[in-house]
Amino acid sequence: MIRRNLKEIEQMIKNSKLNKEYEDIIINGVSTDSRNICPGQLFVPIKGDKFNGHNFILDAIKGGATAALWNKNEPIPTDINIPLILVEDTLTAIQDLARSYASQLGMKIVGITGSNGKTSTKDLLAGILSTKYKTGKTMGNLNNHLGVPLTILSFEEDIEIAVIEMGISEFGEADLLSSIANPDVAIITNIGEAHLETLYTRENIAKAKLEIINHLNPEGLFIYPGDEPLLKNKIEELNPKFKVETFGQESYNTYCPKLINVGESGVSFKLNESSHHIFNIGLLGKHQVYNATTAIAAAKYFDISFEDIQEGLKKADITGMRNHLIHAKKCTILDDSYKSNPASVLAALDTLYSLDKYSRKIVVLGDMLGLGDEEISMHREIGEKMDPSQIDYLFTIGPLAKHIAEGANPMIPRNNIKSYMDKKELINDLNKVVTKDSVVLVKASRDLHLEDIVNTLKDYD
Ligand code: ATP
Ligand code: MG
Repeated sequence: MIRRNLKEIEQMIKNSKLNKEYEDIIINGVSTDSRNICPGQLFVPIKGDKFNGHNFILDAIKGGATAALWNKNEPIPTDINIPLILVEDTLTAIQDLARSYASQLGMKIVGITGSNGKTSTKDLLAGILSTKYKTGKTMGNLNNHLGVPLTILSFEEDIEIAVIEMGISEFGEADLLSSIANPDVAIITNIGEAHLETLYTRENIAKAKLEIINHLNPEGLFIYPGDEPLLKNKIEELNPKFKVETFGQESYNTYCPKLINVGESGVSFKLNESSHHIFNIGLLGKHQVYNATTAIAAAKYFDISFEDIQEGLKKADITGMRNHLIHAKKCTILDDSYKSNPASVLAALDTLYSLDKYSRKIVVLGDMLGLGDEEISMHREIGEKMDPSQIDYLFTIGPLAKHIAEGANPMIPRNNIKSYMDKKELINDLNKVVTKDSVVLVKASRDLHLEDIVNTLKDYD
């Protein structure tokens, strides 16, 4: 984590001001949360819609904060006994600090954006890179305008490569995150329909994500799905200096993976037809092959051998709640309760279909949020696209997911399709149909907290 004296911190932040007598005081790390600050840290209070971090300065001091950044327009309470660095805006200040820290460390940086698969790709790539380099990565999903700076500031000085997830939902955000990290490798995993609410069209989503290349090292590498015309056409138009590689189904892509096997313990694949290396990943679902391929493309930029890549993919430490198979006492659960949008639901259904050994397949789907004006038809379409030969029961939860049930393929018996507004009722009925040889897919947008259903299923005797 960042260790600097306050004079250095002041120099790293534009238009900041520190009283000279405090210049030699050293901070160890930063925190924006007064509830879990560690002794010695720099407290960075952020002013949000609901809370103003400046109001928690005394808690931060109690927790052991050594110093704090302070928005110069905020009144300073009289009983503050730690040094404050006055700044124009604490959020911009922590971004400046991270930008400067990243450039001081001189590590190589991989930035990953995309509608789905950022965290999976990040974990797979970090797994591979750590076979050869001291590697840092975004913890969990800390991927936005605050998460990226916090991620960077958490890195130790001897990190050689950092893999940073960049989540965006509006224009300008990928540009900002790219300007903080100045990546050597930039990745777009895919263009889906997440964030239509703020960006309205897939064209806009593609354009917004492409901002990740705005601050890409001209000698670096850009990796994107070559079968996505919204990206392909734009990149050809730009004719950039950096190297460009693509992945996808079509043979014109630099990397064109061929699936070998998909099963309960993961997927195996080859890269191009001629390649003799077989890669195994312990993640469920064909879609993960593309995430792994992207990770391999980035790893090759850092000269990692295919043998080390094979090892690294096997050992990768994967963040939870994403397409994760849980063998509970009463049934098996395909837990994908972390997030949901059309592309990731279809991918999860596909994964469910590939699990052959279960005689009963139950689907529990909740609302997909943030889809904008077309949300109802997008939910309906998921129902229409379901393979009736693969689904025995469909339970939906929430006002939007009800349209999945309404659109569901008529070959799924009507009596086996139910919509709920209340989680408890759903759980009650679910309990009546799960059997030892059932697999239950659970998926919805994060705000629905379907992990409650997963946890209840886990506890059934
Ligand atoms: P977030 O935007 O929440 O950070 P993310 O982009 O990091 O999400 P993951 O956490 O890796 O994505 O995966 C989220 C969901 O998307 C999971 O259900 C996962 O199985 C699915 N998913 C991952 N990769 C793909 C892909 N390439 N295509 C479709 N779905 C995918
Ligand atoms: Mg993520």
